[in-house]
Amino acid sequence: MIQKTLVLIKPDGVQRGLIGEIIKRLEQRGLKIIAMKMVQADRILAEKHYTESITEKHGEKARISLIDYIMYGPVIAMVVQGSSAITLVRKIVGATFPGDADIGTIRGDFTHMSKARTRQINKGYNLVHASENEEDSKKEIGLWFSDKEIHDYKLSAEDYLLG
Ligand code: GDP
Ligand code: MG
Repeated sequence: MIQKTLVLIKPDGVQRGLIGEIIKRLEQRGLKIIAMKMVQADRILAEKHYTESITEKHGEKARISLIDYIMYGPVIAMVVQGSSAITLVRKIVGATFPGDADIGTIRGDFTHMSKARTRQINKGYNLVHASENEEDSKKEIGLWFSDKEIHDYKLSAEDYLLG
């Protein structure tokens, strides 16, 4: 099934000069970038992006810290499309905690921070956000992009890699 997903290169990814590296990994797998821009998120956008579901998962303290994290510099926002794109992008990105992420994933290859350290500094620097499911991706794409900013075109690789 062809899906769309929201991918953010978080401020640590931008500041570490990893934009190209991250985009390369999405492209090399045959995924299609159908929207992309650099955005300095304001508090309203950050709070809409990280909702109460984060509080339920990680606690309110973590949500407040995440809102600061996503706002502390510009991010690259993208809509990525492809066959099972939501699952595929999360596989390419790797597990939430850098210390858990497999080698070969973006988080596994470019980050290393234990859960204990994440909790100590209350920041989970892990380079990328990627939508978790269809419901989230719909909501998140609508939050970051207008319909006009999302493009429709054919990748030559579609004949070989997708479907
Ligand atoms: P993801 O979907 O893999 O990004 O993970 P989640 O949706 O569960 O969490 C969102 C983000 O919160 C993660 O990407 C981390 O940056 C951050 N995070 C996860 N756990 C913690 C935590 O215990 N404390 C803090 N401050 N941040 C966390
Ligand atoms: Mg998440």
